[in-house]
Amino acid sequence: MSLAVLSVASEAYPLIKTGGLGDVAGALPLALAAEGVQMRTLIPAYPAVRRAAQAAGMTVLDLPVGVADQAGGRGNLLAFNAHGLDWLALDIPHLFDRPGSPYLGPDGRDWPDNPQRFAALGRAAAGIGLQGVDGWKPQIVHAHDWQAGLAAAYLTYSGEPRPGTVFTVHNLAFAGKIPLAQRVPLHLPPEAATMDGLEFYGALSLLKSGLQFSDRITTVSPTYATEICTPEGGMGFDGLLRARGDAVSGVLNGIDIQAWNPATDPALSAAFDAKTLNKRAANKAALQARLGLAVEPNTLLFGVVSRLTWQKGLDLLLEVLPELIGMGAQLAMLGAGDRPLEDGFKSEAAANPGQIGVVVGYDEALAHMVQAGVDALLVPSRFEPCGLTQLCALRYGAIPVVARVGGLADTVIDANPAAIAAGAATGVQFSPITSMALTQAMGRTAKLYAQKTVWAKMQTNGLNADVSWRGPAQQYAALYRSILQAA
Ligand code: ADP
Repeated sequence: MSLAVLSVASEAYPLIKTGGLGDVAGALPLALAAEGVQMRTLIPAYPAVRRAAQAAGMTVLDLPVGVADQAGGRGNLLAFNAHGLDWLALDIPHLFDRPGSPYLGPDGRDWPDNPQRFAALGRAAAGIGLQGVDGWKPQIVHAHDWQAGLAAAYLTYSGEPRPGTVFTVHNLAFAGKIPLAQRVPLHLPPEAATMDGLEFYGALSLLKSGLQFSDRITTVSPTYATEICTPEGGMGFDGLLRARGDAVSGVLNGIDIQAWNPATDPALSAAFDAKTLNKRAANKAALQARLGLAVEPNTLLFGVVSRLTWQKGLDLLLEVLPELIGMGAQLAMLGAGDRPLEDGFKSEAAANPGQIGVVVGYDEALAHMVQAGVDALLVPSRFEPCGLTQLCALRYGAIPVVARVGGLADTVIDANPAAIAAGAATGVQFSPITSMALTQAMGRTAKLYAQKTVWAKMQTNGLNADVSWRGPAQQYAALYRSILQAA
């Protein structure tokens, strides 16, 4: 039997994306269709979304009742199909018709009215969940991250029979905190300001709404699901998460195996698959040339594709670059983010021409070239809910060298003697997350690289691993059905 699910997110690929959340929100509905789940996706009608709606011949629908009140009576829902997804765009122009980032104003800071903007998203989701739209009513509302967190509170505080609810945490570090005084304009009842509501260290947290009031909480890997229940990884929410007990679980992300397919990827110099790994050499040479590195086929080439932030642990890599250089290895880096890290890597590239190559910026095609050209991809994250770059690396024959945290721990099989003997290894893990352990991991990688048969077996294992959305979609579909059965 087909299952009706409303997905609610502040971004979804390909209409609007700033990170992994957008990838997931865009990919999951397609994979769920094969599992008998009919998903509609509610996102704000930013300018790019409005343009897509118009191009797709949208239907203009009324806002659910409460949302219209909250938005001062102005706005609509735009229903349309595009890129294989069934979209509902929340078109409240004074909140969402703004160019640039979905979250930040031209000064690079959060829009001051983000509480109103994302409260409207949550209210619209709740309205659709309770009243339906266009003759369609979801059995489950699946909300993502703090921006969609209020859907659960509005549904619960309505006191009406509500659909089942799932809340997925993509990154617990973003609590969506707003002042307590916002409670009244956002039409939240007095109990919302208590511990059993959304109160969080003297503020209201939109994330807490999702954690507190959803039937099930998922996060994007089983290990991260365990880590967020500890004081070290819980960012202040661990007590609540422990109290939710079995309601918390982990479902790994997949990647789009069409967009990430080394056999057909137009960004590569040479296509390859698990049986033609020798063709990667042309991609390595092209990448070395593009980044100003010495074109040496047998030099161990490490790569990075990442946001440059504290979370990603790349300050540790910056610290140990002398060791990497001392090993005679090379580094190809693509990244953007914190200025000190960008500047640090750029000056190391200038000081070590031919050995360190750095491109600062966001470049999708170059990201594909890096994955296809490097021998090993470094991911020294301090925490990592799932991580997508190590999955891309597996699919492109780059050996992931990762910190043993979160989704990195769940997706890479460390090349310890037992795993090598069993022919199961796919990468290198290290712990604790220190510069010394990272250096040792790079040394271990160099030793493995010298053992050509072991290395090739690890690459083949990675290429043969299933990193698609098929398995995760089956798990989400089973989760939705278990909520409905329990109701
Ligand atoms: P996060 O969402 O925390 O940034 P993930 O590993 O989950 O990290 O997802 C990052 C995604 O963004 C991957 O698909 C990666 O290829 C891509 N990416 C990150 N930085 C860049 C960049 N500078 N250029 C191109 N793609 C990038």
